[in-house]
Amino acid sequence: MVLCYYNGRFSPVSECALPLTDMAIQRGVGAFESIRIYDGTPFAMKQHLERLAGSAAGSGIMAEEIIEKLPGLIREGLALPDNKNFDGLVKPYITGGDVNNKGSFPNPRFFIIFDEVHKPTDEEKKNGIALEPNRVARPFPLIKSTNYLFGLIPLSKTQRVNFETLYITPEGEITEAMSSNFFLCKDGKIITAPVGKVLKGVTRDIIITLARENGFTVEERCPLESELASADEAFITGTVKEILPVVRVGAQQIGSGRPGPVAQNLQHIFLKNQQRWMD
Ligand SMILES: *Cc1c(COP(=O)(O)O)cnc(C)c1O
Repeated sequence: MVLCYYNGRFSPVSECALPLTDMAIQRGVGAFESIRIYDGTPFAMKQHLERLAGSAAGSGIMAEEIIEKLPGLIREGLALPDNKNFDGLVKPYITGGDVNNKGSFPNPRFFIIFDEVHKPTDEEKKNGIALEPNRVARPFPLIKSTNYLFGLIPLSKTQRVNFETLYITPEGEITEAMSSNFFLCKDGKIITAPVGKVLKGVTRDIIITLARENGFTVEERCPLESELASADEAFITGTVKEILPVVRVGAQQIGSGRPGPVAQNLQHIFLKNQQRWMD
């Protein structure tokens, strides 16, 4: 059973409902996180909650008191008998609440869903995935907002089968995917967009750290769309997908069209080092 903390108690998520007057419903005002829990232990929870504080503040949501309560409530939830050896996702949401004070939201609501995790399939991991170009810049890149509309629209407009969309600016700079950070491998380097142009991905930061520790050269600049054709490989990172090879962007095949050694190597290194971010 999927549990949710809302209005001061833990109950089945099916019994929790947000009032229709909440700004999350009325105006799309909300911030959230997905925190991976491996066998009862949160992975990089501190980094996620710091980002949530930034996303809320960036959205005008006054959430300081909520943020302070979250670590205790999450640990309380993980200690419930129903969540024994919980292997899934903890998803705290902070919504705008009912009061919209010229873009400032002084009475936010929050809830925490203890959810199942839908990992990439074995086939996606083995064969890699495809991304559909999305030719806009993601607005307010540092905010992890509940509003994914601009990432979702292009998915329904193409016949191709895609895992996610990939934001590419009108100038041809690749920033990030709909809910993942993007990496391109070329000329012996790993290239990924700088934070500020993209969300500060928790997996992104860890992968950059691990890659540098293991002798890879990481360049923090936006990969260009014009570099896709000559790239050796590409991959995306995210809390649930960890590292997932990308073998096609739009009509453009990447490298050999098969997952490459860098992504495989980094996934291996990630699993070996996971313990360092368990808290
Ligand atoms: C959630 C998300 C990511 C990935 O962040 P992680 O912390 O690694 O899960 C990247 N980009 C966007 C737009 C996202 O929403």
